[in-house]
Amino acid sequence: MSLDFPTVAIIGYLLCVGIAIGFSLMLVVLRGQPVLRLWTLSLWLLAVSVTLLGLRAQLPQVPAILLGNATIAASGVLMLCGVARHLDYRLPLWQPLALAALFMAGIAVFLIPFPSLAIRLDVFSLFAVLLNGWMAWLLLRRASDAQRTSCRLAAAVFATEGAVYLVRLFLPVAPDAGEDILRTGSPMFLTYIAGVMLELARCFALVLLLVERMLVDLRRLARTDGLTGLLNRSAVLADGSALQAACRQQQRPLALLLLDVDHFKQVNDRWGHLAGDRVLRNVAGVLATAVADRPHLLGRYGGEEFVLLLPDATPQQALAWANRLRDRLQAAPASVGSTAVPVTASIGVAADPGQGDLAGLLAAADAALYQAKAEGRDRAVGARADGEACPVAVAAGAASV
Ligand code: GH3
Ligand code: MG
Ligand code: MG
Repeated sequence: MSLDFPTVAIIGYLLCVGIAIGFSLMLVVLRGQPVLRLWTLSLWLLAVSVTLLGLRAQLPQVPAILLGNATIAASGVLMLCGVARHLDYRLPLWQPLALAALFMAGIAVFLIPFPSLAIRLDVFSLFAVLLNGWMAWLLLRRASDAQRTSCRLAAAVFATEGAVYLVRLFLPVAPDAGEDILRTGSPMFLTYIAGVMLELARCFALVLLLVERMLVDLRRLARTDGLTGLLNRSAVLADGSALQAACRQQQRPLALLLLDVDHFKQVNDRWGHLAGDRVLRNVAGVLATAVADRPHLLGRYGGEEFVLLLPDATPQQALAWANRLRDRLQAAPASVGSTAVPVTASIGVAADPGQGDLAGLLAAADAALYQAKAEGRDRAVGARADGEACPVAVAAGAASV
C-alpha cells in the first residue's frame, strides 16, 4: 500500500477538524478555563487555514493564500498565548504579533511581487520553527515544580514539531516541482506525515497540561483553608507529622504552638460574622508575617485556632516566640470600616519530647492552652515534658530568649 498526498492531506484535515471539535466539547464540560478557550480557538483557526489553503486552487488564489496564512499565524499566536497563560507568564502580546507580522510580510512578498511557493514554504517553516521553539522554551523555563512532568512532555512535542520544520527548511525542492511541492514519496511529503502525527501528539500534550494543572489546583485547594489561605487542619496534621519525623531523625528540637483567639465569639456578636472573618484573616496575616523569615509550618487548626510548628526552637525560644506573636497581634488590630477591632490570644506551647506522635504534641499544647485560658487569657503557657501544662514556665509575657 502506498500513501498519496491527497489521501494524507484529507486525513490530516479531518484530524485537524476532529481535534478542534474535541476541544470544543471539552470546553463545554470544563467551563471557565481561559487557556482551553485560547487553544480551542487556535485549533479552529488551524482548521480554517487548512481548508483555505487546501481549496486555494478552487478559490481566488491570492486572497485564499493570504487569508490561509493569516489564520495560521493567528492560530500560532493564540497557541503561544495559551501556553504563556497556562504558565502564568505575562507574555507581552506585541512579541508574538511582531513575529506573525514578519511572517505575513514574507508570505505577501513571495506571493505577489516575487511569487515562489518554495520560498513561501521556507517562510512558513521558519515561522513554525520559531513559534514551536518559543513554546518549548517557555514550557521548560517557566514550569512550576508541580507541573514539571506535563510541561516537559509538551515541550518535547513542540520541540519535535519545531525540529521537523527545521528539517523541512533545509530540504531541497526540485526545480520542476511547481505547485506539486509535497509530491508523494518526497522528503517534504514525509515531513508532512510527521506533522500530521505530531498534531495528534500535541493534542494529547495540551490535554495533559490541562489535567496536571487541574490536579495541582485541586490538591492545593484540598490543603488550603478557604478563609485565611493558610494550610488547613488535615494539611497541618500531614505535614506536621512529616516535619516531626524529620526533626527527630536529624535530632533537631521542635516546638508546637496552639493559638486561640480570646473571646472571639464576642467579636462575632458585637461586629458581625463578616467582621469576625476579617479578624481571622488579619490574625493569619500577622502570624504568617511574623514567622516568614524562619522555617515554620503554620495552619488554621479550626475556628479561631491556629497551629504553628517551629523546628530548631528550644522550649524557652518557643515561649518567647509565643509572647512575640501575642505582642504582634495586639499591635496590629484588624480594621473593620474605620474601626480597629483589637483581639488578644492565648497560646499553649509544647516541645516535642522525641516520642509519641503529633497528636500527643497537640494534646500537650492543648492542655497548656486550656490553662492559659483558665488563668485569665492573653498569655502563653508552656507544657511540661510529661504533657501537663507547666504553671512555672507560664511567665505570661515575661519569657525571653
Ligand atoms: P475563648 O476565649 O474561651 O476561646 O472564647 P471564644 O469566644 O473565642 O471561644 P468559643 O469557642 O466560645 O467561640 C468561638 C467562636 O468562633 C464561635 C464560632 O462561631 C466562631 N467561629 C468559628 N469559625 C469562624 C469563622 O470562620 N468565622 C467567624 N466569623 N467566626 C467563626
Ligand atoms: Mg477555640
Ligand atoms: Mg477562642
